[in-house]
Amino acid sequence: MLSDEILEKVIERLTNRIEEGNTYVLRKIGANIKRIGKAKASDLIKLEQMLKYGGDYEKIAQKLAKITEINIKDIKKIFRVAAKKDYDFAKKFYKYRNAKYIPFDENIALKSQIDALANITASDYVNIANTRAIGFSIKDIRGNTIFQSLDNTYRNVIDEAVLSVSQGKSTFDEQMYKIIKELGTSGLKTINFASGRAVRLDSAIRMNMRGALRNLHNEMQEQLGEEFDSDGVEISVHSNPAPDHALVQGRQFSNEEFNKFQNDQDAVSYDGIKFPAESEETGHDRRSISEYNCYHYIFAIVLGVNKPEYSNKELKKIINKTNEEIEIDGRKYDHYEATQLQRQLETKIREQKDIQIMAKEAGNDLLAGEAQNKIKVLTKKYKEVSQKADLPTYMERMRVSGYRRSASASAAYTEQINKMKVGTFDVSQYTNKMNPTTSDVILTSKSRKHIFEDHAKDAPKYFDRMQDVLNNYDNVYIENAQKNTIWLTKQYDDYNLKLVIKINETSLYQKKKLGYKNGVITFHPMRKNYLKNALDKKKIEKIN
Ligand SMILES: [Zn+2]
Repeated sequence: MLSDEILEKVIERLTNRIEEGNTYVLRKIGANIKRIGKAKASDLIKLEQMLKYGGDYEKIAQKLAKITEINIKDIKKIFRVAAKKDYDFAKKFYKYRNAKYIPFDENIALKSQIDALANITASDYVNIANTRAIGFSIKDIRGNTIFQSLDNTYRNVIDEAVLSVSQGKSTFDEQMYKIIKELGTSGLKTINFASGRAVRLDSAIRMNMRGALRNLHNEMQEQLGEEFDSDGVEISVHSNPAPDHALVQGRQFSNEEFNKFQNDQDAVSYDGIKFPAESEETGHDRRSISEYNCYHYIFAIVLGVNKPEYSNKELKKIINKTNEEIEIDGRKYDHYEATQLQRQLETKIREQKDIQIMAKEAGNDLLAGEAQNKIKVLTKKYKEVSQKADLPTYMERMRVSGYRRSASASAAYTEQINKMKVGTFDVSQYTNKMNPTTSDVILTSKSRKHIFEDHAKDAPKYFDRMQDVLNNYDNVYIENAQKNTIWLTKQYDDYNLKLVIKINETSLYQKKKLGYKNGVITFHPMRKNYLKNALDKKKIEKIN
């Protein structure tokens, strides 16, 4: 079997191409948005027809079909490489037993068997990735996330763009901002057969390939083991083993002892290590190897012929590393969790790159700049996690074809944000419960609108005092349910004002709003017992 690292690399060849297709789709849709945004009203209907039925969508379908074709060819190659690896490993046992070992290239029967398995996987691939099966996760009118097929998405975006362009530029930009963000964040997805849920296409293919290669390996081992009359097994090794398999990985067993291990009985490895059915480390329910989410493999061997692949020292080192803890944003992560964080960040960075590309294509500078900023923050975080956990960085995983850093988009965004700045507030002087990314406080047009609409009667009278509250507040409160929301209050002769600010944190568990400033949520007068009630109900807590 291929090592975990190599396995990941070969699968990456496939997923990189999928990512390329994803970017291609988003770009095309982005370009359509731009054309509609620039069209004269009199040309709109014609343009709409052309974009919908002028062969543009067919180009997308062709591009994706091409990717599928290349990937399928690759799947066959990958299967042969993986199988050959197993076959090479077994050679010493054939020799030891004086069994006939036909070189891989000449072993026609074996190769056609491998090809047959590859074909099954290839047709699974086609089912998962075909244009009718893929689409995007989007929000419907009621705010529920639904799966929308690729061709429907393509046409709906055109409809939406045409509809909103006729309502003026700011409506158009706002609507497109939402759509681009949604599509970029979703990426191409496919419906997972087992769960019925939409999953990212690249993840679906990765999972499918892993499963398929595991099947290949198991079938090979069974067959080869029979041919060279295997009497034992060696268990594969991977980093971050689960506690119940940490000690058993890399060990050799006789078939008899291994059977005991698999059936939850006391077992002894070939080098004499005892694996009691019940132990302090593994508890009662030790999993069998290769079952329930276990990524270990079993190799058929002849006992006494080969030394285990990993020495005791190397195995110990892996376990020690698994138990190491790191701290990020005040939270502790073990080694496994750190690798998961890495994966999450890789995905997010790719999403933002896709959004940036699409927004640039659509001419939406604000969103392009926002995405650019997030990429910067996320990449910094990614490096921090990797460095602290001593993990290799996988920059190629975040490679998005066609992505170029855009300094102008970034500058445009910063300018936009600076226009919204109303002052500064540093929450860390009062509490260490938050990790603010900045002390800058901004007021978005959305929040301003909310303040003036929902408090229409009074807002014009007190609105100018926002800066004064920000600089000369009486008290600071923290919301108990929303840990990153604070209240600044100030008593005036006419009003008792409350300014609510959402503090921006780049903590990894706070999924949204990365790269933003602290934002004013609302600003309004309070009734007489308002604060007392909130305190009594433990809704808030005073922190100054
Ligand atoms: Zn395992």
